[in-house]
Amino acid sequence: MNFFNRMIHKMYSLRFHVALLILLTGILPCIIIVNLFFYYFEQRSLHSEEIGISSQAQLLSNQIVTTGYLADPTISSVNTQLNTLGNIYSGRIMVIDSNMRVVKDTYNMYDGRTIVWTNVIQSASGALCSYYDADNHCIIVTVPITDPTDNTTIDGVLLVNKTTGTLEQNMEYYRSIGTIMILIVFILSTIMALVFSRNMTLPIHRMADRIGHMAKGVSHQELEEHGFTELRHMAEAFNSFADAMYKVDESRQEFVSNVSHELKTPLTSMKVLADSINSMGDGVPVELYQEFMGDITNEIDRETQIINDLLSLVRMDKSGANLNIAPVNLNELIELILKRLKPIAEKQEVELVMESFRPVTVEIDEVKFSLAISNLIENGIKYNKHGGFVHVSINADHRYCYIRVEDSGMGIPEESLDFIFERFYRVDKSHSREIGGTGLGLAITKNAINMHHGEIKVASVLGEGTTFDVRVPLNYIQQEVTES
Ligand code: ADP
Repeated sequence: MNFFNRMIHKMYSLRFHVALLILLTGILPCIIIVNLFFYYFEQRSLHSEEIGISSQAQLLSNQIVTTGYLADPTISSVNTQLNTLGNIYSGRIMVIDSNMRVVKDTYNMYDGRTIVWTNVIQSASGALCSYYDADNHCIIVTVPITDPTDNTTIDGVLLVNKTTGTLEQNMEYYRSIGTIMILIVFILSTIMALVFSRNMTLPIHRMADRIGHMAKGVSHQELEEHGFTELRHMAEAFNSFADAMYKVDESRQEFVSNVSHELKTPLTSMKVLADSINSMGDGVPVELYQEFMGDITNEIDRETQIINDLLSLVRMDKSGANLNIAPVNLNELIELILKRLKPIAEKQEVELVMESFRPVTVEIDEVKFSLAISNLIENGIKYNKHGGFVHVSINADHRYCYIRVEDSGMGIPEESLDFIFERFYRVDKSHSREIGGTGLGLAITKNAINMHHGEIKVASVLGEGTTFDVRVPLNYIQQEVTES
């Protein structure tokens, strides 16, 4: 990663954003407050300066009128006052008559000249004007010279220019204090930003490291977090997720070992049978060969049956597997299944009875659903006694359809009821094997029902019979498939 990419990477980090936020919330208000303070402080100081200057100018203007200074600018008492004020203000004072002609300039530069300046013209019309010249560091105030006894006649304008050096020096002083304050806040904010952003992001890094460590399979430890509440919640959620993954992995391993075992059994039998034939030597009757070959064929059929069941199960297991949902007449479907299973039932001398309370149409994947119900009915036949029955009934309400498969067979022991839907679980292994069971039928049924968002329940009395109750929504609900 080059420098540029590293910078981009850092800029997208949570730490950078947290640090930036703390820095900005610290420094921005400080800059705004300091600048606002200086702005209003300057405005206020200038305003009070203007008030002071204009009241002095007002006094002088009265004196100019009463002494008749405009007609005789040599009056020494007024000149002294003008010069004194000019010195106090470190500035300049001009007395201008109504023709805009400078009668007196304390700098003696503009005497006799005509002044044309907006503020002077406005003051000649009676206005009091002031102007702050920041470049030349001075305030210029112009006041009309009016007769105090007769306020309507304006005889001229008095212009007072005061140097604002002291004010600016003060401002400069406060400004440097403000800058130091901003700098201190900046340094403190930076330290806080670095410390807090590190404290906030460190547990996340720690957590990520541990998750990475666990993902490598180095250890199956619990993720512990004692820091922020949110992170503790995250750790808890992760722990339950890891637990679920661990269970999935365990059940996968168990499944693989079961599959291997189940597939190995017919192969071992075939090998034993083949070895036996080989070891018999010459002169073995043909009937014996035929019998052995018949047994080998049976084992091959069994192997095929296991593989077919496994394939069905895998297809059902795929979450979100493609379901071909369509409205199906349930009564016709069950009739068809019973028709297909009739030969097996007759062979076992088991009576198949169907009872329908009403015609039911349900949205299902016909193939997968048929397989599920076939397995139940087939089990009812397989695990039955001669002369027994399998009773299938169909019912529905406004939301669900109900299918009940009831048999008069051997029943299932209570302690096995919780396990019969597990893959490869068989109550009586040897008996189930004898009658061609693979232990996958009910697992396939349960998966298929789950895919239709349905439910399956079992009740059984040992020696009397078993009842499977299936409930499936009439209208297929499009949502995530919940795994069993
Ligand atoms: P299998 O292929 O062995 O029949 P299943 O998954 O269909 O496998 O059934 C699991 C086990 O549950 C069976 O081996 C059997 O012992 C028991 N079982 C299932 N259905 C019935 C039933 N109707 N009556 C008695 N036992 C049953």
